Amino acid sequence: MKDRLKPYEREIEYCAYCPKLCRFACPVGKVTCSEASTPTGKMTILKLVKDSALSLSPEVAELMYQCSGCILSRTYCEHRIEVISALEAIRAIAVEKGIAPKRVQEFGPAFQKLGNPYAENFSRKLKEIIGEKHLADKSVRAPKKADTLIFTGCTMTHYFPETIKDLIKVLESLNFEFAILDDADSCCGYPLFALGHWQILEEHQKKLAQKITGYDQIISLCPTCVWYLRTRYQKPGLIQVGSIEHSTEFLSTRLGQLRLKAKMDAKIVYHDPCHLGRYLGIYDAPREILNWISKNGFAEFYENREQSECCGGGGGLPLSHPQIARGISKHKIKQFQSRAGQILATACPMCERMFARTGKEEGILVRDLVSLIAERLA
Ligand code: SF4
Ligand code: SF4
Repeated sequence: MKDRLKPYEREIEYCAYCPKLCRFACPVGKVTCSEASTPTGKMTILKLVKDSALSLSPEVAELMYQCSGCILSRTYCEHRIEVISALEAIRAIAVEKGIAPKRVQEFGPAFQKLGNPYAENFSRKLKEIIGEKHLADKSVRAPKKADTLIFTGCTMTHYFPETIKDLIKVLESLNFEFAILDDADSCCGYPLFALGHWQILEEHQKKLAQKITGYDQIISLCPTCVWYLRTRYQKPGLIQVGSIEHSTEFLSTRLGQLRLKAKMDAKIVYHDPCHLGRYLGIYDAPREILNWISKNGFAEFYENREQSECCGGGGGLPLSHPQIARGISKHKIKQFQSRAGQILATACPMCERMFARTGKEEGILVRDLVSLIAERLA
C-alpha cells in the first residue's frame, strides 16, 4: 500500500496539517455537512492509513469515494493540491482488496461485458446514428479515410446521440473530412480509472489504443475523454496522435466559416465543466461560441471559470454516492434559477445528464453548445 501512495506523500502530509482554506469549497462537504468528507478530512484519514495508524476498512474505503474529482479545492489551495489523485490511488487498493462499496466493486466486471459503463451495444447504436458514410477504418494498417477521428465517448453515445448528429451536421457544413469510431469499446476508460478498477483498465486501454492511434487529430464532445486521452494515452506514448481537441476548441476557431439563420435571443447561462475548465484550462473557447451565437451574449454563474462549482457527475460519484451527486447538482440548479436563465448551456455530456435529470421537475432546458450551433445553421 505504501508504494502506491508514495507519489502522493507530499499532498497527503500538506492536507493533514494545513490551515484548510479550501474546506468551504468542497461540494461534497457542503452536501454531507460532515467534516470527514471535506478535502482535509479525507486526506487526514488517508494519512492515518498511510502511516498504518488506521486500517483500510470498508468504512474508510467508502469515505475515499466521497469525491467528485472536481478539483475546486485546488483553486483555493496555496499548494495547488489535487486531492483526487491520492484518493484514486487508495480506491485502486480498495478494489484490489475487495472492500470498495458494493456498486463500485460490481462495476468492473459489468464494464468488461461490452467495454463501456452502460453495457450497451454501441456498435449498433452508432451505426444507426451516423450511417456508413463516416465510419472509421478499423484496420490500423489500412489507409485511413480521414485524418480526423471523432471520439464520441460513452456518456454522450448513451444519453445524447442527438448531439453526435448535431456535431456531424456542423462538421459537414464546414466540408470537414472525418471518421467516427463505431465501436462497443468507445469509452476512454476514465470511469474505470476513477473508481479504482486499474487492472481491467490496463487491458481496456491497450485494446482501445490500437483503434485510435495514427490519426492527425482526435476531436471529442466530452472534456473528460479529451483530458484522459491526452494524459493517459498520448503523453505516455500509448497512441501517436497529432492533437486531441475538445469540440469547443475546434469550433471556436472556425466560427467565421459557419452561416447562421438567426442569432439566439434566449437568456443563456454557461456552466464550466470541471474537466474542460480546471483540468484542461479551456474557458474562452465556449464563451467565444456563446458570444457569436447569441444576440445578447450570455450570463455567468456567480461562481465561474476556475471557481466554477461542479455538477456532481465526476469521479464516479453518481455511481458510488448517487444522493450526494444529486445534492450537488440541485445546488447548481438553484444557482441557475437565481440567474433567471432560460437555457443552461454546457459542453460536457455528464454535466448535461446531471442537470437534465435534476432540472427536469423545474422544466429547465439544458443544451450542449454544439447543439445550439447546429439548430441555427442556415
Ligand atoms: S487541498 Fe490545500 S488547502 Fe485544502 S487541505 Fe489540502 S493543502 Fe490544505
Ligand atoms: S476534488 Fe472536489 S469533491 Fe473532491 S475533495 Fe476536492 S473539492 Fe471536494
